[in-house]
Amino acid sequence: MFSLAGKSVLVTGGSKGIGRGIASVFATADANVAVAARSRADIDAAVAALDGLGSGKVIGVVVDVSDRDSCTAMANAVVEAFGGLDVLCANAGIFPDASLQTMTPDQLTEVLDVNVKGTVYSVQACLDALIASGRGRIVLTSSITGPITGFPGWSHYGASKAAQLGFMRTAAIELAPHRITVNSVLPGNILTEGLADLGDDYLAQMARAIPAGALGTPEDIGYAAAFLASDEAEYITGQAIAVDGGQVLPESPDAVTP
Ligand code: NAP
Repeated sequence: MFSLAGKSVLVTGGSKGIGRGIASVFATADANVAVAARSRADIDAAVAALDGLGSGKVIGVVVDVSDRDSCTAMANAVVEAFGGLDVLCANAGIFPDASLQTMTPDQLTEVLDVNVKGTVYSVQACLDALIASGRGRIVLTSSITGPITGFPGWSHYGASKAAQLGFMRTAAIELAPHRITVNSVLPGNILTEGLADLGDDYLAQMARAIPAGALGTPEDIGYAAAFLASDEAEYITGQAIAVDGGQVLPESPDAVTP
């Protein structure tokens, strides 16, 4: 089995949901883990929960990934605390809904700023440290929504998640000479605080669409991210892996056995 012990890992959006699941998998595997998000209270709660899962350090950093200077400060804080950075999980993202007919320019801008610019800024801010690592790993949290599927109200979100994959492919080429890999995990429906806010009807509708019969857990995404971050995954780059319990597979709703 591969080892992540002693690696230094930064998870944006690591205070809640999928990011926290990713952080807990790395922390349990004895990595040093930094969780970054906007809310200091949520960061502190996450650090308290993650601390002691493994033998690595756990720290929290305040960041707004849609702000380039904030991302630079985040990367500097992590490098100062851990002495370097081996893995960036660019996971922070938002998914407010807005129909195409009513979507305002501000709503569109907010989603693109956090999900697309936030990904690019996070990667740029961490590049020097990842290059210095000699085997840097970047794992993006995209989505099945956009790259593979669609859902009413999420045209801007789907565009942002597909944009991450476009970014990934060229970034993977540019960074390959530095032995940095860039890959994406495409979560299906994962039970997080953010998803729960969409309501019980949404959650039940999604569970019925998943061949595996249930929504995923944040740790399901964490295990995929951990593999892509491992030394053994060094020959995998520019790839997107759906982690969705088979949700994108059925040709019709009837193909899913209750
Ligand atoms: P969540 O529970 O709402 O958590 C989002 C995390 O991102 C929080 O830590 C949040 O903390 C942080 N965040 C949001 N805006 C930020 C900003 N501008 N700067 C820094 N941090 C920010 O969401 P989630 O369900 O875990 O989703 C996480 C990622 O997975 C997103 O990229 C999402 O698109 C993707 N995804 C989720 C699902 C799903 O089923 N849940 C499916 C496909 C893809 P603060 O609010 O304190 O900043």
